[in-house]
Amino acid sequence: MATASAAALGHPSLSLSLPFPQATGSPFALTTLTDPHRAGAPRTEPRRGLGAADGAVPDGTTVADDGVPGVANLDPDLRAALRGAAEQAAVDGVRLLVNSGWRSRDYQAGLLRDAIATYGSGAEAARWVADPDTSAHVSGDAVDVGPAAAATWLADHGGAYGLCRTYANEPWHFELRTDASEGGCPSSYADAAHDPRSRR
Ligand SMILES: [Zn+2]
Repeated sequence: MATASAAALGHPSLSLSLPFPQATGSPFALTTLTDPHRAGAPRTEPRRGLGAADGAVPDGTTVADDGVPGVANLDPDLRAALRGAAEQAAVDGVRLLVNSGWRSRDYQAGLLRDAIATYGSGAEAARWVADPDTSAHVSGDAVDVGPAAAATWLADHGGAYGLCRTYANEPWHFELRTDASEGGCPSSYADAAHDPRSRR
């Protein structure tokens, strides 16, 4: 459905689907409605020629899937924290999946190109997709979780594992904040464009 929307917007070559907030009001709702397996995160389907080796993550991937580069190349501390959280989430009846983790620079650059095509400007795209030079996904320091129930669970309980939501507009995106387990998570940035790291 999102791909059809992209074609309708005049981007037939768009090979991955990004949220369309201007069309729907909520990318979270869009993915929840259209793709229950990946609800809660923008779909990051493999671009042409860019597969698992560049960070594309198969459906159903968990933090235990070491054979998936998008998981294996995450920072070890982040991966360990996610595994601890995923175990507790499972106890609570919530399955925590990885929709995206580590990404190669090429993969991130492709996401950014497509976001600029989708949103019509670099400034708007920067609210959703970071530059390869500053992306926490490229450095292995960020994970997009799903489905929506898992993102909600992690927002409620992740602080104890040092896992914090980074951006208010991306409820699925978590990073490790090592001081969070004592003082709780810092407040989220409104979006990636408000992240001071995006301007370094
Ligand atoms: Zn993310």
